[in-house]
Formats: sequence, C-alpha cells, structure tokens
Amino acid sequence: MSCLFCQIAAHEIHSKIKYEDDDFIAFDDIHPKAKIHILLIPKKHIHSVAALEDSDVNLVGKLILKARDIAKEQGIDLSGFRLVFNSGPDAGQIVDHLHLHIIGGEKL
Ligand code: 5GP
Ligand code: ZN
Repeated sequence: MSCLFCQIAAHEIHSKIKYEDDDFIAFDDIHPKAKIHILLIPKKHIHSVAALEDSDVNLVGKLILKARDIAKEQGIDLSGFRLVFNSGPDAGQIVDHLHLHIIGGEKL
C-alpha cells in the first residue's frame, strides 16, 4: 500500500488521531497552518474531489457533518473555521487521497 493517508488510516504510519470510526479518521496536519489544523479523510481511498462518483454522495455528506462535529469538539464552531479541499495540481494537492482540511483556532 503506497498511499500515505491509507497507511495513516491503517495505523501503519503514526499520526495524532483526533477522531476515528469505521469510515473516517481525523488527525493533526504535520505542518499546521493555524493553531488547529486537522485533516479528515474517508478510509476508503478516493483520489480527489475530481475523482468522486455520484454514489459517494452519502460519504461526502457524512464527511462534512463529521467536520462540523470535530469543529464543535475543538471549540471553534462559534469562533469560525475554514474547510478546504484541494483537488489537483493547480490547487496544490500533494497527497492524492481525498482529505478535508479543518483550519481554525485563530484569525485566518
Ligand atoms: P494537500 O496540499 O494535499 O491538500 O494537503 C496535504 C496535507 O497533508 C498538507 O497540509 C501536509 O502538511 C499534510 N501531510 C503531509 N504528509 C503528512 C504526514 O505524514 N502526516 C500528517 N499528519 N500530515 C501530512
Ligand atoms: Zn489512500
């Protein structure tokens, strides 16, 4: 298995896990852009937003709702936070496994 985030999801590479269930895992970004910078990923390998299929609608909906829950758990639901998907080279996507950046904890 060569995908970095698949390896993190399989606990083969260490990360600071913030949340985990059967379908998703969230962990601290190794190079945080703000006080709180968490990556939320589906355990299923999906390349990017561009690679999503219509049948992923349920998974993507749950991903956003889980980001909402994590923001609340982190205490940034009211202060505000940013959700970012980078898709493809022009957006600067460096890890080719769908991931949602949850960024906040300070003025962005
Ligand atoms: P992208 O630019 O692909 O949207 O974001 C990938 C993110 O993954 C970057 O913010 C980068 O800091 C983070 N990252 C890269 N390698 C690792 C790693 O090994 N562990 C963790 N926790 N984050 C990583
Ligand atoms: Zn993967």
